[in-house]
Amino acid sequence: MLRITSPTPRWRLPREPACENRPAPEAALVAAIIIVLRYSPYADGWTCALVTSQIFSRSEILELLQARGPAQEALFSRACEVRNARHGRAVGVRGVIEFTSFCRKDCSYCAMRRSNRIPDRFRLSADEVLEAAACAQACGIATILLQGGEDVGSDRLLDEVLPRIKRELKLYVILNVGERTRSRFEQFRRLGADAFIMKFEASNPALYAQATHGSLMDRLENLRRLRDVGFVVGTGNIVGLPGQTLEHLADDLLLACELGPDYLSSSPFIPNEGTPWEREPVGDLDTTLNFLAASRILLERALIPSVSALEKVRPGGQLRGLLAGANVMTVNCTPSRRRDQYRIYSRERFVVTLGHVGRTLEAAGLDFVRGGILPAPQIGQGTR
Ligand code: SF4
Repeated sequence: MLRITSPTPRWRLPREPACENRPAPEAALVAAIIIVLRYSPYADGWTCALVTSQIFSRSEILELLQARGPAQEALFSRACEVRNARHGRAVGVRGVIEFTSFCRKDCSYCAMRRSNRIPDRFRLSADEVLEAAACAQACGIATILLQGGEDVGSDRLLDEVLPRIKRELKLYVILNVGERTRSRFEQFRRLGADAFIMKFEASNPALYAQATHGSLMDRLENLRRLRDVGFVVGTGNIVGLPGQTLEHLADDLLLACELGPDYLSSSPFIPNEGTPWEREPVGDLDTTLNFLAASRILLERALIPSVSALEKVRPGGQLRGLLAGANVMTVNCTPSRRRDQYRIYSRERFVVTLGHVGRTLEAAGLDFVRGGILPAPQIGQGTR
């Protein structure tokens, strides 16, 4: 029976080991990183969510992920109550500019992976980025997400555009550009980037390695660096990765709680042409929505987007995301001549327009915040 209680109890760690499915040596190292995150002098920002979160044990999370029918409706309803009480009915609208389709990584699920021979990879010029940002601003959008593959070759472009966006347009800037050194993160921060999104993708080290050909520990270390240098930090996972179990997903949620991010994003897995996982099934929409709703209840302070992949899986998917507790939508502001060349989903992706956002918010009975909403200040972390 689904148990969703109203009063918010204080956090306790679940009794069941969160990483029982992980290979032992990796699990120990990941646990060590989590301990460092929790107890380091920089940890206030990471841990404040733990203090305020509602309690679910791992087995309760497993129940929530599988809720359907009335139990699922109860979950969504509770998630919306939590969102409305904490954030009101306002939805933050941000604009994404996809400025580079080059990538040095080879993720098994992504059509932009370096192994894919894509003849028309591109990097926008600084003027193209500025023009797109100005266009977003003219539509009342005050938060820009600069997104691309993990392309160190584009760092000089960012060095040029970040100060200009801050100086000329005064926009809030989020980066989603992959892993870098600490000094590089510091440079981005100095130049005006406010927030950084880096998904952990999967909390199980073996699954993470299969999905990204990288190390989960490196990913968590990058997340720690981002917090250390003063970024507002977003993270998240993919629901429905080949080989992923519900237990893995429950651990994803527990890891998200440990990290206590400012943004948390969950996307359903989309199989992409030309990737090793092109014939795998699409991630389950209901499970993704349940994950989103449980995240909202556990991490009430976080901003949670209703991502375009939900709409791609099923028309109306983003509306369902909002009705499950999300409070952010992202309009695509990439110059139209480049959108088709950004192959994050190789089979026709769903491009979110301002009109679609307006219609979806109206259907959900929520409000478009012109100017956007920003993450609430964190306990123990200075504001800028
Ligand atoms: S998911 Fe990101 S890092 Fe991985 S291959 Fe695609 S663009 Fe590169």
